[in-house]
Amino acid sequence: MNYDVIIIGAGPGGIFAAYELMQRDPSLKVAVFEAGNELSKRRCPIDGEKIKSCISCKSCSIMSGFGGAGAFSDGKYNITNDFGGTLYEYIGKKQALDLMYYIDEINLRYGGEGTKLYTTAGSRFKTTCIQHDLHLLDASVRHLGTDINYIVLENLYAYLKEKVEFFFNTPVRTVSLDGNGYRVVCDKDEFTCKDCIISVGRSGSKWMENVCKELDITTNSNRVDIGVRVELPAEVFAHITDELYESKIMYRTEKYGDRVRTFCMNPKGAVVTENTNGIITVNGHSYEDPAKQTNNTNFALLVAKHFSEPFKDSNGYGESIARLSNMLGGGVIVQRFGDLIRGQRSNHKRIEEAFITPTLNATPGDLSLVLPKRILDGIIEMLYALDKVAPGTANDDTLLYGVEVKFYNMEVEVNENLETKHKGLYIIGDGSGITHSLSHASASGVYVARSIAR
Ligand SMILES: Cc1cc2nc3c(=O)[nH]c(=O)nc-3n(C[C@H](O)[C@H](O)[C@H](O)COP(=O)(O)OP(=O)(O)OC[C@H]3O[C@@H](n4cnc5c(N)ncnc54)[C@H](O)[C@@H]3O)c2cc1C
Repeated sequence: MNYDVIIIGAGPGGIFAAYELMQRDPSLKVAVFEAGNELSKRRCPIDGEKIKSCISCKSCSIMSGFGGAGAFSDGKYNITNDFGGTLYEYIGKKQALDLMYYIDEINLRYGGEGTKLYTTAGSRFKTTCIQHDLHLLDASVRHLGTDINYIVLENLYAYLKEKVEFFFNTPVRTVSLDGNGYRVVCDKDEFTCKDCIISVGRSGSKWMENVCKELDITTNSNRVDIGVRVELPAEVFAHITDELYESKIMYRTEKYGDRVRTFCMNPKGAVVTENTNGIITVNGHSYEDPAKQTNNTNFALLVAKHFSEPFKDSNGYGESIARLSNMLGGGVIVQRFGDLIRGQRSNHKRIEEAFITPTLNATPGDLSLVLPKRILDGIIEMLYALDKVAPGTANDDTLLYGVEVKFYNMEVEVNENLETKHKGLYIIGDGSGITHSLSHASASGVYVARSIAR
């Protein structure tokens, strides 16, 4: 029951921390506690027939379990400091990038070999964007795809389970100081360790807040990103996605000066639902395997919202908007762009008559009853701006699914070692509010593992 290192959460942050600890010092006794299931047992019960929508399982198989929130994701590892988190502010830009390339090497060794690395460097599209007041952010992106991403995780688990002790379906309830180390309390047992790495991701955000309160660790409010997922025929964005796969494009609206950006682009992908603490939002993914690809491309258009005093609960604001769409649509709402512009709700007939087949069975409705005007205006402006670089974007039949919300955890106060004011207690990955992506979360895991092993 006593370990050198306890890792809480088996998402990318926790997995790569465990991996690197074993690389650096295999004699360390390491345990990983995970609220969800092991990878092979992660199954979302929604089958589209008997169970059509979320039944709020005790532990959500999409967000929890070995592989974390990213297990069934598109597996896009963005190697960049321009987005995906602010890890570089703590560890420096070069080191952050080096670690992301290191993660890439591991992913290739564990099953990702042969997948494509796309890059924006030298892209002609960047010039086209600037000419239309759009800004393409710099990045290299390794696209594993949902299928290969899963294989990489399977292989990493096969390697780690021989060296590290995993406790699945074991949510940690409390973490407290215990002499020179930490006491980790679960439902049935208690464990102690010298160093503790907390990597609980977004699904652990509420729990993380409590731990910070109990251990008197300062937290600061973060932003929330609110918007829609856009779905259109793959041909419209093919000239961009064929060259870059994922492009992060920024736009500053004329009306309010707000920043709108594209996020999580899935060429020939599918729109999916996501459940965060019982709230249904929209997301997207795609497959490397051509047999699983669709005729559509999807991506999110998001507007970042920061709040200043006295309001602090930016996630609560995002949740309320998502709840509104859940209330009106019983989940995710879909609307044709043409209907939105004409101020009419979409209905089944108009969706069926459109020249695009939705990949998600969402409720036709009216997003203007859900999204605040300022956010909706920004999204409409950006769709017209994108239409200049990808004609067809602002087509009447373009589908908008709402709402997409990117919640960010409270930013936890840690030092340049990602260590809290309590020696040996590290907070990493999305749970720290510092990272928001697979590559940054993974890099933060390797970073703390190296510092512990040292
Ligand atoms: C559908 C989807 C698609 C995505 N696609 C991409 C993408 O293509 N590219 C990209 O960069 N990012 C993507 N992301 C985001 C990415 O998955 C996350 O940034 C990343 O997983 C964060 O890793 P993490 O280890 O910090 O946290 P997580 O992956 O969230 O893992 C945290 C783990 O901790 C566990 N946990 C929580 N609380 C406790 C507790 N109290 N005790 C024990 N265990 C606990 C959870 O069950 C979870 O398994 C996607 C996310 C989703 C949901």
